[in-house]
Amino acid sequence: MMKLFFSKGKLLLQKIENEYRIPKANELDSIVPGTEHSESVGTYKGEECLCIQDDTVSDIPSDYEFVDVRSIPSLTDDTELFILAGTANHILHWSHSNRYCGCCGHKTIDKEDERAKLCPSCNTVIYPRISPAIITAIFRGDEILLAHNRNFKGKMHSLIAGFVEPGETLEACVAREIREEIGIKVNNIRYFNSQPWPFPDSLMIAFLADYESGEITVDGNEITEAAWFHADNLPEIPSSFSIAGKIIRWYQEQYSSH
Ligand SMILES: [Zn+2]
Repeated sequence: MMKLFFSKGKLLLQKIENEYRIPKANELDSIVPGTEHSESVGTYKGEECLCIQDDTVSDIPSDYEFVDVRSIPSLTDDTELFILAGTANHILHWSHSNRYCGCCGHKTIDKEDERAKLCPSCNTVIYPRISPAIITAIFRGDEILLAHNRNFKGKMHSLIAGFVEPGETLEACVAREIREEIGIKVNNIRYFNSQPWPFPDSLMIAFLADYESGEITVDGNEITEAAWFHADNLPEIPSSFSIAGKIIRWYQEQYSSH
């Protein structure tokens, strides 16, 4: 069995000769004794994994390191580790945020037959929250629209994205986000694929859409720059670990002349 141990949102990994690995449960127990509440998080290379959070631990052996889960793709090409650690981050965030019932304030317990919290006082059942968000690649002929969000590092450009609102279909959300953030109208909105983005609890649902009308007008609030780009002349784009990075590279492969 393996254990993913989190403290203050960071994951404890062992570093051996520049290779990062998840500690075995018995190794971890000697480093961080007395960690009580664990959650099951699936399997890693065929081995069962638990995840635990204790924000008081900071003293660790020199061959261990606390890492930001989002930085895992830059530390290792182990995609399975990135997905597992992200899932653990999502579950622990949900577990920690729901220690008390939102209806009556009583302490919750783990439901025995499924992943949920149960309030023993008023019987409220709390499932892990998943927040759907859309992300859309917009095409005009052989060009793609890429935008710079004020929260992005450096000059990075990416796709238009946003959270789904109550009462909204995914397609309506795509049209609204694009209208609000860059002021254009799109049509032919079609599903592409999806990716969990557990920071802390999103599911990114990706669409493709075609430009219909309007001039690009950035909202200046979230989006500070947006423009049409050709596959041969792309700006800095997100890593291929993110769904945006995957879609932009997929477009590039189809339209690049190289
Ligand atoms: Zn309650």
